Amino acid sequence: MSERWARPKAEEMPPLKGELCIKCGKKLMNIDVGLHKKMINRGAREYMCIDCLSEYIGVSTDELRRKAEEFKKMGCMLFY
Ligand SMILES: [Zn+2]
Repeated sequence: MSERWARPKAEEMPPLKGELCIKCGKKLMNIDVGLHKKMINRGAREYMCIDCLSEYIGVSTDELRRKAEEFKKMGCMLFY
């Protein structure tokens, strides 16, 4: 009996709900994570909330929300 339990590695797991913004520590929503991936880095493991992202890239939060809606309409799985 040398079989081992196949446990998923942490780095293979999708981001957990309850991630916090790396700048202000606010709890992140899917839209925050999705936008960060779209606007900064698809492979990011740490994310900013929409407010910090807005400041960071110099795009208004209204504009970011509008973009998120567009991505969603295009069927982007990052926004559901
Ligand atoms: Zn933030």
